[in-house]
Amino acid sequence: MKLDLSEFAKPCACGREHAISVKEIILEAGALRRIPALLEQYGYRQPVVLCDENTLEAAGRAVRGLLPESGLIVLNPENLHANEHGVTMAEEGLAACPAPDVLLAVGSGTVHDITRYIAHKRGLPFVSVPTAASVDGFVSTVAAMTWHGCKKTFPAVAPSLVVADTDVFSRAPQRLNASGFSDLLGKYTALADWKIARAVTGEYLCDRVCALEYDALRIVCAQPEAIRAGGAEACEQLMYALLLSGLAMQMVGNSRPASGAEHHMSHLWEMEAINGRVDYYHGEKVSVGLVLASGVYHRAAEEIRKGAFTLREGMDIETALLEKSFPDKAMLAEILDENDPNPLAGVTPDAIRRALPDILRAVDEIPSPQELTDLLTRAGAVKSLAEIGLPDAMLAPAARLSPYVRARLTFMRLLKLFDFARDIYSL
Ligand SMILES: [Zn+2]
Ligand SMILES: [Zn+2]
Repeated sequence: MKLDLSEFAKPCACGREHAISVKEIILEAGALRRIPALLEQYGYRQPVVLCDENTLEAAGRAVRGLLPESGLIVLNPENLHANEHGVTMAEEGLAACPAPDVLLAVGSGTVHDITRYIAHKRGLPFVSVPTAASVDGFVSTVAAMTWHGCKKTFPAVAPSLVVADTDVFSRAPQRLNASGFSDLLGKYTALADWKIARAVTGEYLCDRVCALEYDALRIVCAQPEAIRAGGAEACEQLMYALLLSGLAMQMVGNSRPASGAEHHMSHLWEMEAINGRVDYYHGEKVSVGLVLASGVYHRAAEEIRKGAFTLREGMDIETALLEKSFPDKAMLAEILDENDPNPLAGVTPDAIRRALPDILRAVDEIPSPQELTDLLTRAGAVKSLAEIGLPDAMLAPAARLSPYVRARLTFMRLLKLFDFARDIYSL
């Protein structure tokens, strides 16, 4: 399957000329075998392969066999995360290798984020070799890292090449590909959040980018059972959809099209401020965030349709709540910094009332929690708090706190101005 990247980078009705920094994406069975010729074609002579012990078996060894002169860094997968420890381990490995002119990330999300971060820091290009269709961030321009306990996105480089071998990622553990399915399904709430922000504040939005994400959603929603079964064709389609979503992010230069309230919940749990360890895959946390956010959004839409509500005249940051919820001083400082300026500043009741028809339309496009649960079940993905080790009572704190982890207006954030919001969370 060839992705024609010139299709993405062309002048657009939104007024922007979208830039795509990936030069080539190879998505097919046996793609690994093309790596030596590709590196040669792009003038890369001294590659270093970065993987962990699992992805070494899945593809790293095969890549190394094709590039016998390359450096090799194998990270210990135990407790491996995209954080300062992961980066230090990789840097130590790199110090023992001959100076590279390109890095190859052979792995899933974590290996990619670590490689992407180091590549950016050292001004090196990197090649993405995904070993599972587990996230949509392979072609992302930012690295999602947990830095000293706080979830942050860092500017980083997008891969210059993607070599996605169907023979490799279709054999990934079912749980990983199910996570990819969930990460993609999260676009339902992410896109609604983007449309609602545009309706209320006039934030930039590109219809072509939205259409691309809906294409990706249609592709995976048509075949959840086949993705669960790990069929090569279905997994290739899932990878294609994830890459489309990544390209959508590249087109606008940030994660707006792909990350909304559902990702904010996932980020909140990863910070482990109001909960203990949540050692689950990115997509699994997004999955649960999606079902919860859909529930809140649909109940809010019902209340809006009843018409009997009042709106606050603006709202400050809930400082006391944040101080109580984030006792760690450094983490609290990050959160307060992220919320300055306050995304709700300047949002008037009038602006919200004018946007209500658009808000309701955007929420109507999100499947109900029941429909989402059904799709997720068919794909073998997780969907409940209990499945990621969190209590049912997590809904209310997650709904209240998660909007603060990112300076991004979502419907979840906007709901703070509606008088019925608290009743909805505590249902
Ligand atoms: Zn556009
Ligand atoms: Zn994601």
